[in-house]
Amino acid sequence: MSSPFDILAETEPGGRRGQLHLPHRTVQTPVFMPVGTAGTVKAVPQDTLESLGAEIILGNTYHLYLRPGHELIRRLGGLHRFISWPRAMLTDSGGFQVFSLSALRKVSDEGVRFRSHLDGSSHFFTPEHSMDVQIALGADICMAFDECTEYPADRSRAEESLRLTMAWARRSLSHFRAHRGEAPWTDPKGCCMQCFGIVQGGMYTDLRRQCAERLVEMDFDGYAIGGLSVGEPRALTLEMIAEVLPLLPKDKPRYVMGVGYPDEIEQYARMGVDMMDCVLPTRAARHGLLFTSEGRLNIKAKRYSEDQSPPDPACGCPVCRRYTRAYLRHLMQAGEPLSAILNTVHNLAYYLGIMERVRNSLQETSRPAAKISVL
Ligand SMILES: [Zn+2]
Repeated sequence: MSSPFDILAETEPGGRRGQLHLPHRTVQTPVFMPVGTAGTVKAVPQDTLESLGAEIILGNTYHLYLRPGHELIRRLGGLHRFISWPRAMLTDSGGFQVFSLSALRKVSDEGVRFRSHLDGSSHFFTPEHSMDVQIALGADICMAFDECTEYPADRSRAEESLRLTMAWARRSLSHFRAHRGEAPWTDPKGCCMQCFGIVQGGMYTDLRRQCAERLVEMDFDGYAIGGLSVGEPRALTLEMIAEVLPLLPKDKPRYVMGVGYPDEIEQYARMGVDMMDCVLPTRAARHGLLFTSEGRLNIKAKRYSEDQSPPDPACGCPVCRRYTRAYLRHLMQAGEPLSAILNTVHNLAYYLGIMERVRNSLQETSRPAAKISVL
């Protein structure tokens, strides 16, 4: 097997057009990954995701571990088979949800004890356990178990969180390497499951640098920048990404977790971020917020009640080709389930369309490799 990540074209500010070879799919990058929290990208059937061009989706380890349980999913052949998704999948480590959703957390060097947000039952997650769960689910990409620093966090809190994250990264990777052969599927192409490390460090650039350098020494398959989009001003998000990107190996994929608005994902992709995920297009859709080429559109607004135009005249998605703003507004007002489906399909088509345009433009504006090397 050749390198799992090929860079096909590069641009001067650092943007790259690449291909990530994963067991279930070769993914074109930069890529936006729809979030499939509990084994479903909410409101969208899998065949629709495929027709929209989604090549990789996320699964949430915390949710799937609690319900229906990773051992059940393993017995049913892994998450791909269970949810009938033939393309690539990435699972998060569960860390973010443990810290944001569960109650009564108790963090120690060993791991974190928490109570389920579903039934109050007590659970203990360690880096090793997180990797076992992700391997049982059978993700193409597993994420190291980390502690996501909240915002704002003072320096001593960020330092402590960083210390844990780095120790947990090392344990995650060594457990992953020892057990990745236990995936519930075998890949005819011989691609391996991958494990990505997560750069934390709050909003402190020196802590971010320190974390990135240590993780790179550990030699992960790819690197994520986590703990962003947690309430900080956008300029700070950008500063952290700009600080960390140059420290990450050029020949490995870089993933910024949990971003963002349409203009953000385009900006970060052009800076050299290869992968992004965000609940925004799906969650906003269920609240009637559509992202369009003309800006944000709140479909609940009365002014759309007799508007015969498509949600986004410049969009070629199945929703914009067929339905009017007036109808989408009616569905929302009436509380019809189809409202969430149609709004989400459009928003995902819009996000995936942005990435497709960025990939095409990176390809077109790329410079010959020889020139890049002397810049
Ligand atoms: Zn559309």
